[in-house]
Amino acid sequence: MIPALHIVGSGPAGLAAAHAAVMAGAQVCLIDDNRAAGGQVWRGGPGAWNAPAADALWAALREHPGFTHVRDTRVVGAVDARTLLLEGDTGGACMPFERLLLCTGAREFLVPFPGWTLPGVTGAGGLQALVKGGMPVRGRRIVVAGSGPLLLASAATALAAGAQVLAIVEHQPRAALARFGLGLALRHHGKLHQALQLFARLRGVPYLTDALVVEAKGDEVLQTVVVETARGRTEYDCDFLAAGFGLLPNTELGQAFGCAIDAGALAVDERQQTTVPHIWAAGECTGVGGVDQARSEGRVAALCALGLAPSRADLRALRQSHHFAALLARHFAPRPALRALCRPGTIVCRCEDVTAAELMPWRDWREAKLATRVGMGPCQGSTCAAACALLFGWEPPAARIPILPANAGALASIE
Ligand SMILES: Cc1cc2nc3c(=O)[nH]c(=O)nc-3n(C[C@H](O)[C@H](O)[C@H](O)COP(=O)(O)OP(=O)(O)OC[C@H]3O[C@@H](n4cnc5c(N)ncnc54)[C@H](O)[C@@H]3O)c2cc1C
Repeated sequence: MIPALHIVGSGPAGLAAAHAAVMAGAQVCLIDDNRAAGGQVWRGGPGAWNAPAADALWAALREHPGFTHVRDTRVVGAVDARTLLLEGDTGGACMPFERLLLCTGAREFLVPFPGWTLPGVTGAGGLQALVKGGMPVRGRRIVVAGSGPLLLASAATALAAGAQVLAIVEHQPRAALARFGLGLALRHHGKLHQALQLFARLRGVPYLTDALVVEAKGDEVLQTVVVETARGRTEYDCDFLAAGFGLLPNTELGQAFGCAIDAGALAVDERQQTTVPHIWAAGECTGVGGVDQARSEGRVAALCALGLAPSRADLRALRQSHHFAALLARHFAPRPALRALCRPGTIVCRCEDVTAAELMPWRDWREAKLATRVGMGPCQGSTCAAACALLFGWEPPAARIPILPANAGALASIE
């Protein structure tokens, strides 16, 4: 008999996994905190995405008798080794499972710099998500900054929505980008094609390399962005700054179940199995690699979780996607120069208004937390812990339950 599979996260990894599992005859329960399936890249759900791959997965899933979609529901922790703690609109619940597949994705890596907490400053993907969610940007002036391919996607989304993109400010030097492009040309023609298409859509928008946004200025809201390149400093008057320096895997739920971490991501073997035998993981929670990696890993993880063998084609696609992930990691790794962006007076923990100067005297995250309340606000350190790792070399804190802010009613449902 095919076992049942619970999947957390309905992005490309979760959808590909759910599809593979129901097609294999399993009962699948897919849980996600959004109203619509799709995760980050297919944000907005079936009516909004423009992705034939997503359409195909969803068309096969939505009416399938073996498929249950639990939406608007956050998994806030582990009750015991085989029970999820959920929080939804109607309160909390405990959900037992036999086999679990984590497809919890990634979040943006935000580096503190003067003015980054001003209204008008968002992450690069954050701005894209707001625009896809309907925020009007027609005629608004936008600077997109940070590092990685997401800058291009975010700028293209804003441009298509009528915004004026003043500049894309890429932190990596031209040589690193050229090597990345060569890597795409040698082995990832589809990705190269996508990148060239994005550049074509962004024709006319200045693409600055080896460049950094060093300050966001404004009285009450963002008014000006200061950008530094080898040629000096330039100021851009703008309405929005979208600044993101890459992605960080969402590992907290896996950690809550005792899964080991490797290089900041959930550690998995070649079958996508974590170090906890009844838990598998796929997509960007196991390492940043984009939508194709998420889909390949999701499919392989689901089949392996059900005790089935992935096909040769599945394994080939997986290897190809991992090669792309390695290219990304090699050419878009955060550079030490980023540390200099944060000055002593810069806020690092924006929930609790803790500055870099207040954090400097402490030896580690725990000492700093006790003394300054860093990481004790609503985001529970999901943004500032990574910033502190970059700035001070502190080991990020272990995940604690609830992994996301939860109301007392949800916690009371633990029997
Ligand atoms: C803001 C942002 C924008 C991006 N935009 C693009 C883009 O335009 N193009 C591109 O190629 N890539 C983009 N990416 C990269 C993108 O993450 C991957 O390409 C792809 O979406 C990864 O798929 P995934 O299934 O691993 O994770 P995701 O798509 O991130 O899906 C994970 C899902 O799990 C849910 N989830 C996580 N934790 C829980 C929990 N505890 N309880 C319930 N639900 C949970 C999340 O809400 C999400 O729906 C973006 C990333 C981010 C962070």
